[in-house]
Amino acid sequence: MHDESKIVLNCPECDAAIYEMIDWFKRSDFVCQVCGKGLTAAQFAPMIADLEQAIDTRLDEMISDQPHAGCCGKKSTCC
Ligand SMILES: [Zn+2]
Repeated sequence: MHDESKIVLNCPECDAAIYEMIDWFKRSDFVCQVCGKGLTAAQFAPMIADLEQAIDTRLDEMISDQPHAGCCGKKSTCC
């Protein structure tokens, strides 16, 4: 699926940008690396839902736009 996708969400407590895997935000509870306050997945769920929708749309566009699906297209070293 989108296991490699890293996303940025803002901490609800301190508004710091948190750059982590989507799955990291889906854990039941975790601590903000900046303010150290406990956060829950429920606080991020609406933002994640929006992001995953956007990612799915982008992937669909990539697949339809690029016939060279064998390459990830992200790094020159991948092929
Ligand atoms: Zn925070």
